[in-house]
Amino acid sequence: MEDPAEEQRFTLPSWIPGSYLLREYSRHVVSVRAESSGRALAVEKLDKSTWCCRNAGAELLVTIEVYALDRSVRGAYLDGTRGFFNGTCLFLSPHGREHEPVELLLELPEDPRCAKWRVATAMTPVDVDARGFGRYRAADYDELIDHPFEISDYAVVDFQAGGVPHQLIVAGRHEADLDRVAADLSQLCDAHNDFFGGTPPFEHYRFLGLAVGEGYGGLEHRASSSVVFNRKQLPRPGEPGVPRSYQRFLSLCSHEYFHAWNIKRIKPAAFSPYRLDRRNQTRLMWVFEGITSYYQDLMLLRSGLIGPKDYLERLGQALTRVYRAPGRFKQSLAEASFDAWDKLYKPDANTNNATISYYSKGALVALALDLTLRSAADSAMTLDQVMAEFWQRFGATGKPVGEDDFEKLVGELSGRDLEDFFAIAVRGTEDLPLAELFAGFGIKLGFRAAKGPEDLGGSKRGASAECSLSLGARFREREIGMDLTQVVDGGAAQLAGLSPGDHLIALDGLKVSASKLTQQLAHFDEGDTVPVIAFRGDELREFSLTLQKAPLTTCFLEFDDEAEAADVARRELWLGS
Ligand SMILES: [Zn+2]
Repeated sequence: MEDPAEEQRFTLPSWIPGSYLLREYSRHVVSVRAESSGRALAVEKLDKSTWCCRNAGAELLVTIEVYALDRSVRGAYLDGTRGFFNGTCLFLSPHGREHEPVELLLELPEDPRCAKWRVATAMTPVDVDARGFGRYRAADYDELIDHPFEISDYAVVDFQAGGVPHQLIVAGRHEADLDRVAADLSQLCDAHNDFFGGTPPFEHYRFLGLAVGEGYGGLEHRASSSVVFNRKQLPRPGEPGVPRSYQRFLSLCSHEYFHAWNIKRIKPAAFSPYRLDRRNQTRLMWVFEGITSYYQDLMLLRSGLIGPKDYLERLGQALTRVYRAPGRFKQSLAEASFDAWDKLYKPDANTNNATISYYSKGALVALALDLTLRSAADSAMTLDQVMAEFWQRFGATGKPVGEDDFEKLVGELSGRDLEDFFAIAVRGTEDLPLAELFAGFGIKLGFRAAKGPEDLGGSKRGASAECSLSLGARFREREIGMDLTQVVDGGAAQLAGLSPGDHLIALDGLKVSASKLTQQLAHFDEGDTVPVIAFRGDELREFSLTLQKAPLTTCFLEFDDEAEAADVARRELWLGS
């Protein structure tokens, strides 16, 4: 850089947009050194993530050394197999010069292990070699940190969507048929582009994927997204159909791609601009994550990748996640949004009792809003039309979304007074009238007891009139017995005085086991009281537990064969079948 002021300050972000937790990336900074015209300069640290240099003269060179071994989509990683980084982990932001253009020079390490490495990013190249090493340019610091880089011997496949080039990058071992994945993603991304009006808001797009043995997650950016997934989720050559595991992968990509419109460009005022040294709180996270979560699966259906049966199963699983969370009666969506930084992103054993996810409940509110709009006798308004207009007014223009703007827009476009709807759905904690809404679309909502920890809901499978019993807790198997990881408010375990962290040894005088619990409980009836032996810390305790009926919180959806023609017609407009 040239001509720095007398004093130049630099800050490393505390968080990365898209993941609402103060991660304090400065904790991985090993050293910061400065020099000017060949002479070393003193560097003073001013606070947790700000450094300062003085009297630099004409030129200031700052060198930062960073520990990078974070394999998540939010971090930076470098070893002999792969490099990956988000700029938030590496690039100091020079105070007062955040809006100036930035050039990035990326050099291939002189190490035989890196001989086959190439670079993948959506940042604009200025002068790069065939493998992508060289100079890149960003218009400002905000853009610099919104283009992650994958640097490795990855697999790559090109496809077109919305009339512009797209790429899927897959680092990590896999045996996938990437041509098929690219064809499917092309179909999916076309559906998103059509939804928002045809022309994508970017010139190219890249999915930067990492296939792993265990892991799942994504992070959205303006012209790319980072996605981590289980390598078994990708289809092998010749594999027929779209199995649930592959649906999960496609759903993840669908979610992150929808964000290219809904949050990267249609952006809440609280993020305009991002203030990267503190929490940026908004009561609208449900609009950005919940509506995105609703459409991520609906787009799988609309693009023809899955059929209505699969869609209803995925929707039933989304319902199950909400109905299994008693915290929905304690925390509203607006509160969940506002407190994301300290609640959703800092879960503990009581999270399910005290909070509700703005992803899962937000998706249900989006669904309920869509069905409510579509149910109106005298209007053909849909949430699709609201989102298209939301895009035109806020995303396409760059106008920040104020805290009331979404609700006002829905009211204006529908010509209906939906204040009561939003009061209950967004600021209230009552359940939404979903069964009633589904009925108007020829769909029945059913509830049953969970059949075990692996039961995600969504299908009638295993539904039976016979009542199964429940401890009202979640647990983890141990070599002997099991640990309670969560205790449900008002459930049998809590009423018996058990707590998260208790190590259960025996139930009714017999060794207890998570995998055999259902069989063990089959000998009892609702209301039976049994002795439970557990360690709390290193002290052995005895509890008296009265068994309860398992709650009917596992949801499934079915087409109603006896639905009226008008309801079926409405369903066809919604689901295409
Ligand atoms: Zn998201």
